[in-house]
Amino acid sequence: MSSSIFYHTGFLGYCTVPACIVTLKALGVVTLGAAAELMRRYEYDVIIIGAGPAGLTAALYTARSKLSTLVLEKLAPGGQLLNTEKIEDYPGFDTITGLALTEKFERQAQAFGAQIKIEEVTDLFPTQKLVRTHDAEYQAKAIIIASGGYPRKLNIPGEKEFAGRGVSYCALCDGAFFRDQIIAVVGGGDSAVEESIFLTKYVRKLYLVHRRNEFRAQKILIERAMKNEKIAFVLDSVMEEIGGTKEVEWATIRSVKTNDRHKLDLQGVFIFVGYIPNHEYIREHLAHDPEGYLLTDTNMQTSVPGVFAAGDIRQQLTRQITTAAGDATTAAVAAEKYIEKLQQATALPTARER
Ligand SMILES: Cc1cc2nc3c(=O)[nH]c(=O)nc-3n(C[C@H](O)[C@H](O)[C@H](O)COP(=O)(O)OP(=O)(O)OC[C@H]3O[C@@H](n4cnc5c(N)ncnc54)[C@H](O)[C@@H]3O)c2cc1C
Repeated sequence: MSSSIFYHTGFLGYCTVPACIVTLKALGVVTLGAAAELMRRYEYDVIIIGAGPAGLTAALYTARSKLSTLVLEKLAPGGQLLNTEKIEDYPGFDTITGLALTEKFERQAQAFGAQIKIEEVTDLFPTQKLVRTHDAEYQAKAIIIASGGYPRKLNIPGEKEFAGRGVSYCALCDGAFFRDQIIAVVGGGDSAVEESIFLTKYVRKLYLVHRRNEFRAQKILIERAMKNEKIAFVLDSVMEEIGGTKEVEWATIRSVKTNDRHKLDLQGVFIFVGYIPNHEYIREHLAHDPEGYLLTDTNMQTSVPGVFAAGDIRQQLTRQITTAAGDATTAAVAAEKYIEKLQQATALPTARER
């Protein structure tokens, strides 16, 4: 049992949560609810939600600063890194797999004492700094939200099978792998059009496949795309299947007007039909943009003091491993300063000092 769940209760000395609650209740000192409330308080200095690049970086920093740190992860440490085969834009590594980078992030955070638990956060009460999972409730002094997000899928045959082998959801990450090749981009919003223009820096030809005749994207972007000779518009059309042998070799397109189908020979498919931030567990209002990304100040603090956000969950220009790690560094340092101020105000010891 970790020392961080032993509490000094004054006249009872040190005891574990259940033992403290039972004793205080038996002595008639407090009600069960109040005892539980007392025991839960400051179980960890910092709780981090999500063990992707942002969560693991934040954990490294807070644990290294001797703050008791718990990372709660619903699946497995790594986040979107686990969906990334080859990374060649993380400084210090010519190339590294997502899995290898995950292992390094995880090992380093744990070496400084961060605890990682595989538990899904089901409820977060930001003002109380209270986190609930299916198994337990956790109290912290500061919270760092690093639960990222995920690209919306087309859910067509071949999409999953060829992910990382020609199917991509990130132009900045993977564009350079498609030099002089033929690709398709699926989508009709700003991201699809903007990323198409970006991708023409690398590719020989790009089909922009959109199910309607009109784009949701800004007019200026569409005009720019129309002037680009490498972009061919495939409108009123949907992609139905992606295929190949080891890597992507073709995709089938169906006209929504005529139902005619044709095959495009290509080596890559980029899908930009939306990105969904993981924030469904937040139970009180935290300021966010219309798409649900959390708004923060320059210290990564959200609209609730002591609650910080880092990485893909945060509204920002770009979503990369480097930006996730950078955000997390700031969030961790800001959380530490927040806790210092809290302690000065209440003269409470850190969980490690108890
Ligand atoms: C296919 C793909 C390829 C990419 N390639 C590159 C690349 O080559 N280079 C690059 O720099 N970037 C790349 N990116 C972007 C990069 O992976 C992300 O920017 C980065 O992973 C963001 O880190 P994060 O920690 O903010 O979020 P994530 O990586 O999304 O991690 C969030 C974590 O939180 C967990 N979580 C969510 N909800 C809960 C909950 N309720 N309770 C507990 N845990 C929860 C998730 O399971 C996940 O593990 C790629 C992205 C994708 C999708």
